[in-house]
Amino acid sequence: MGADYYRHSGKFSTAGVVKTLALGSLAASVFGAIYAYAILYIPLAGTVSFLLSGGYGIVTGFCAGLLLKSGLIRNRKIGWFCLLFCQLVGYYVTWAVWIHAMVARAGGELGLGILFFPPVLVQAILKVNEVGAWSIGSGGEPVTGALLWLFWLGEVVIIFGACLVSISQLDEPFCESCGVWCQEHKGVAALHPMAPQDLRQVLEQRQYEYLDLAQEPSEMPLHVRLDLHQCPQCQETCSVSGRLVTTTLKDGNITTQSEKAVNQLLISRDEATALRNLHLLEKAQEESPLEE
Ligand SMILES: [Zn+2]
Repeated sequence: MGADYYRHSGKFSTAGVVKTLALGSLAASVFGAIYAYAILYIPLAGTVSFLLSGGYGIVTGFCAGLLLKSGLIRNRKIGWFCLLFCQLVGYYVTWAVWIHAMVARAGGELGLGILFFPPVLVQAILKVNEVGAWSIGSGGEPVTGALLWLFWLGEVVIIFGACLVSISQLDEPFCESCGVWCQEHKGVAALHPMAPQDLRQVLEQRQYEYLDLAQEPSEMPLHVRLDLHQCPQCQETCSVSGRLVTTTLKDGNITTQSEKAVNQLLISRDEATALRNLHLLEKAQEESPLEE
């Protein structure tokens, strides 16, 4: 019997895409304008500005991701496209606002409206690259040319990279019969650690009797956590995922790392109930041990 893992149907609604493109671009533009002022008035090249770039990408991607989810997009390619589109619009606005604000700060005047004409913006960017906008350290020479291009390239990679991380918001299974996203139930069971391939085999073959429940997972440095996704309406669309959780205590701080071992294995409603009731199974085994 081949195991079935959840995969998106690839379906999407045009209205959902249009809504994501419109509202997502609007959000990206607003955040882009804020980001432009932030990098202009917090003039620290390096870590701080790159943190701001990452933050800008994350909030934009998060908003667009929420819109994709509420628009019931079950298609990763469409998801990628929407995220990229919104971030591109936001990135353009960032440049326009940044140059407008920088010229204004220097006492000049360059209308924001005209900067929305791409050839004008490109000319302005080339000019900034030629004369530089900031320097490293106080009193240093302004950064220009190739080095400035390189800096801007790094900024692009961070902004878009951080934005695209949001595609993971579309990772949850979707119940096609009810038209809703499945609900996540984290940690329906905690198990003694086992190798990922063993966990996969036990779950795929429904040998739940081999799952050994861990009583105090919080005290175990290594354990397996089972997460369930279930349709909140019909309860019929269900999937189980398994993660290897490592907890380390360092300088009084507890850090938890987890690694996916089984991802969205489709199971029936009864099997989902069985997994949630693993403790009952364990109790029954104690009372009447399996005969050899
Ligand atoms: Zn359903």
